[in-house]
Amino acid sequence: MLKWGVIGASTIGREWMVPAINAQPDSMVAALVSSDPERSRRYADELGISTVYSSLTDLLSDAAIDAVYISTTNEWHEPQTLAAVAAGKHVLCEKPLALSLEGARTMVAAAATAGVVMGTNHHLRNAATHRTIRESIQAGAIGQPLAARVFHAVHLPPHLQGWRIDRPDAGGGVILDITVHDADTLRFALGDEVAEVTAMTASQGMGRAGLEDAVMGVMRFRDGVIAQFHDAFTAPHASTGLEVHGTEGSIYGRDVMTQRPIGTVTIFRNGGEEAVPVEHENLYKRSVRCFNAAMRGEGEPAATGVDGIRSLAVALAVRESAQQGKTVQVSDN
Ligand code: NDP
Repeated sequence: MLKWGVIGASTIGREWMVPAINAQPDSMVAALVSSDPERSRRYADELGISTVYSSLTDLLSDAAIDAVYISTTNEWHEPQTLAAVAAGKHVLCEKPLALSLEGARTMVAAAATAGVVMGTNHHLRNAATHRTIRESIQAGAIGQPLAARVFHAVHLPPHLQGWRIDRPDAGGGVILDITVHDADTLRFALGDEVAEVTAMTASQGMGRAGLEDAVMGVMRFRDGVIAQFHDAFTAPHASTGLEVHGTEGSIYGRDVMTQRPIGTVTIFRNGGEEAVPVEHENLYKRSVRCFNAAMRGEGEPAATGVDGIRSLAVALAVRESAQQGKTVQVSDN
């Protein structure tokens, strides 16, 4: 049985990741560390976590723990990953991996040196819809991809309207929250890397302290595909989607930029449309299943540490583009 330690008593842990780890036949959450003893006790009781530590050092000193899942606010990802890796633990870290590209690179390099598995929890690659889109494109279903569109404007629910909208020091703002996922999903679907981006941001009622709550922009991929994206915290009635348009057809994913295992995939070509069958699976369970296998030496995490670096590089370039009002090259990783 692989034993996981959870770092941070977070919402994503409660809603998705702790149940996903415990749902695997070969893993369980054995311990939690949180900055708040009272809150963490309640959290552990609710989720059936037997051991609660009040310091990261104590959790990392627990020899029974094989891996940690880090879902604290974003400024903690880097130091906590470095500490976990130094203690010989495998690390599945939430996105964005770090607040800087240099920080993310340091994390991935440290994991490689320590010989531990490192993954980034970009959940959308685990969606059956996105996997179907990628496979269809690779099989030539739409010919040569030319352009893509991502619709990922949502309404940030009240219980998440904390650090995301008012703490730049914690990596708040819609770009590090949502655009980083778009970047990863497009990289995954198209099997290519982003070369340059151009973007504009807005603060339309939620973002404070200079943080953006909406962004639109375009990414240009190395092979020439241009991809348009719209992300927001402020769109209560928008639906989500991902489209890729190619020389021979178009593929549409509807309601696919979501945590839930839902959505449809349709191919339009030769004057007709065809629904592609999708066998939905809980995205987070698949993420953990792949990570557990990687710990046993079988394959890689669904999104590796390097994927986390590359998707962060795109998000940081989007932010820089909006700030500077110009097209920005994405740093070559
Ligand atoms: P939360 O705000 O719920 O939790 C973040 C951290 O804040 C927790 O780890 C906890 O740390 C602390 N905290 C939790 N509740 C409180 C409280 N009531 N008062 C004070 N501090 C509190 O964040 P999310 O779960 O929304 O996001 C956590 C991370 O996961 C982020 O990096 C985010 O980007 C990522 N994420 C990823 C998703 C995905 O699908 N891949 C989806 C959602 C988030 P501690 O217990 O140590 O105090």
